[in-house]
Amino acid sequence: MLAKFATGRVFPRVRCLGINYRSQIRLKSDIGFVLDIDGVLLRGSEPIPQAKEALELLQVNKVPFILLTNGGGLTEKSRIEFISSRIGVPLSPLQIIQSHTPMKTYAVNKTYQRVMVVGGVGDRSRECAYGYGFKDVVMPIDYVRQNPSISPYHNFSKDSLEKDAKDVDVSSAIDAILVFHDSRDMSTDTQVILDFLNSENGVVGTKRNFKSSEPSVPIIFSNNDFVWPNKYNLPRFGQGALRIMIEALYREVNQLKPSENLKSTIMGKPFPVQYNFAHHVLIDWREKLLKNQVNSLEQILPPLDSEPKNSPFSKIYMVGDNPASDIKGANDYGWESLLLRTGVYNDREGTDILPTGGIHDNILAAVKSVLR
Ligand SMILES: [Mg+2]
Repeated sequence: MLAKFATGRVFPRVRCLGINYRSQIRLKSDIGFVLDIDGVLLRGSEPIPQAKEALELLQVNKVPFILLTNGGGLTEKSRIEFISSRIGVPLSPLQIIQSHTPMKTYAVNKTYQRVMVVGGVGDRSRECAYGYGFKDVVMPIDYVRQNPSISPYHNFSKDSLEKDAKDVDVSSAIDAILVFHDSRDMSTDTQVILDFLNSENGVVGTKRNFKSSEPSVPIIFSNNDFVWPNKYNLPRFGQGALRIMIEALYREVNQLKPSENLKSTIMGKPFPVQYNFAHHVLIDWREKLLKNQVNSLEQILPPLDSEPKNSPFSKIYMVGDNPASDIKGANDYGWESLLLRTGVYNDREGTDILPTGGIHDNILAAVKSVLR
């Protein structure tokens, strides 16, 4: 029998490692895994060597698992297809939660209709936001194309302004600012975001005549990662750094007291909102596994920040490389946590945030330590 996931790839339901796929259904479904991606399954775009065997071990044992990343800036389908092809294991788009995935709730519940999405390559974040169901999605680049003097030192190429920007109705207000991913032009994004936060009810080019810690339009950051590792020898600033800049400038403009701060919402690991969302999705994925519906594309939409009642799991294991996000979030939420040596963490620097399930050389060692 063949199981085909949404990636279009086919894998045989075989006896693997001497374990029969079907016979394990009842055995392992009371535990679940939540896996980070960068530093756990991939390093940059390169697969971590043990990732394939680890995922196959979970699939063969029918242990429900999902991926939980603070990354984003493209559709869940695009990202899972990339991961699946790099590692060589079929995965479903229902098995991934990016930092901004819970924002879909705002679209489906019609909390916000016209949003400004910030961050990511080109206009991929816009495509993702439309996929969530937002009625109108604008980006800072749209306002630059409409009037370049809004950001006099912007770095958008002529090609990008033609291809990635769209015509906007500047008289229409936006309902919210959603930061999907790291800023690609921090100067433009900072300027345009601040303009809207201090505008008259979300209309570009206007300025309200009062000061407040309450912005004119809500701003939601999809993660709070201050830095992230790349090929450079020192970590680089991420979305958390952008948030600090926005807050500092907002404080200055609004002359806030030391006790006051810009009111905002932050999603992503290590915050409970993300773990609650992941918990619901993992429960749903377990149901699909038990009913052999792994090819289903029917997605549940969990309520924001509500803990599932009657979880079928006796234990959920979070596997990650970042103590400050993966491990802290899991520990705070009451999950078991397993820290890996294949990413951000290293033994030399150590960590004060200790994983409950130990520190492991790689994901395969971590998974085996649990299944054993
Ligand atoms: Mg990571």
